[in-house]
Amino acid sequence: MSDEKNNLLEVNNLKTSFHTSDGIVRSVRGITFHVEREESLGIVGESGCGKSVTMLSIMRLLEDNAQLEADSILFDGEDLAKKTKKEMRPIQGNRIGMIFQDPMTSLNPLFTIGEQIKNPLKRHQNLSGKEAQKKAIQMLELVGIPDPAKRMRQYPHELSGGMRQRVMIAIAMCCEPELLIADEPTTALDVTIQAQILDLMKDLKKKYHSSIILITHDLGVIAGVCSRIVVMYGGLIMEEGTTEEIFYQTAHPYTAGLLASIPKDTKEKLVPITGTPPDLLNPPKGCPFAARCKYAMKLCKEVQPEFTQLSTQHRAACWLLHPAVKQKLGEVKIR
Ligand code: SF4
Repeated sequence: MSDEKNNLLEVNNLKTSFHTSDGIVRSVRGITFHVEREESLGIVGESGCGKSVTMLSIMRLLEDNAQLEADSILFDGEDLAKKTKKEMRPIQGNRIGMIFQDPMTSLNPLFTIGEQIKNPLKRHQNLSGKEAQKKAIQMLELVGIPDPAKRMRQYPHELSGGMRQRVMIAIAMCCEPELLIADEPTTALDVTIQAQILDLMKDLKKKYHSSIILITHDLGVIAGVCSRIVVMYGGLIMEEGTTEEIFYQTAHPYTAGLLASIPKDTKEKLVPITGTPPDLLNPPKGCPFAARCKYAMKLCKEVQPEFTQLSTQHRAACWLLHPAVKQKLGEVKIR
C-alpha cells in the first residue's frame, strides 16, 4: 500500500516478453510496485528473475523483439508505457539516470571521459561547451576522482574498475535525476571499493533529493542502502516490505533461502538454494518456486498464490500465509 501523492514511480501490472526462435520468453509476468520520492528501493533476486528486464522496461530500452504491456508506468504522473522512443529521450539519462554493472560496456571506449560527461549536459541541460566542461570537472571531483582536469582527457581503459564506476555515477547524476536506477552497480568490484561506491550513491541521492532503485542478487548489498525491498522470482514479485520486515519477519520461503545464502561471518556455512529457476519459455502455472520449495504442496503446483497483506508495507505471495491453509496446517516456521 502506498501514499500515491508521494510516489515518484508507479509500475502497474507490467508484463514483458521476448519473441525468440524457441518461442515467447515471459520474463516479467505482471508486477506492481512503487517508488516514493527520495526513497531507496531494492529489487533483489537471482539472475533471470526479471529484475533487469523490469528496469529496461521502465526506461523503454528493450530490444526490438520485446513486447511490453502494462496498465501504466507512471513517472511523476506521466505514463512512460504510452510514450514513443522520441518522447522518452528527454527522460532517459536526464530525469532518470542509470548505472550498470560493467562500466566498460556502458562507457564508450572511443571517447574521453570528459566528452562522455559533457554530452548529456549539453544535450539535456543546454549548457555551452565551457559550462559543460566546468560542470563535468565538478562532477568528477564530487565522485572522488583525483586530478579531474587530467582525467577528463583520458579514455575509459586508462582508469581502474572502481574509477570507471565513479565516472558512470558522475554521468548518471550530472543532470541531477529524480530517479537513479542502478543495476548490480558493485558486482564487478572488490568489497572495499563496493562499500565506497554504495556510500557515494547514498551521498549523491541525499544531495540531489533523488530516489534510487538498486537492483542486485545480493541482499547484503541492499541492507545498507535501501529502506524497502521487492523480492522477485520467475518474473513475479514474491515478497515486498520494509528492509526490517524482509530481514526479520521474512514471510516467503524464497526470501528465506536468499537470506540463508548471505554469510554473516567468514566461518558461517552458507546454505545455497538448490535447483534451478523456472523456464520462462514455459512458466509453471502455480507458484514459480514450487520445484525448489521444501514446503511445496499440491495446491502450490496448480495455482499461483495470491498476495497476503501482512502489514501496510509488507506482502508476500505464498499459500502458507493463506488463512484457509493456515487453519489446516497451523503456523509454518520458515526461518
Ligand atoms: Fe513454497 Fe508453496 Fe509458498 Fe510457493 S506457495 S513458496 S511452493 S509453500
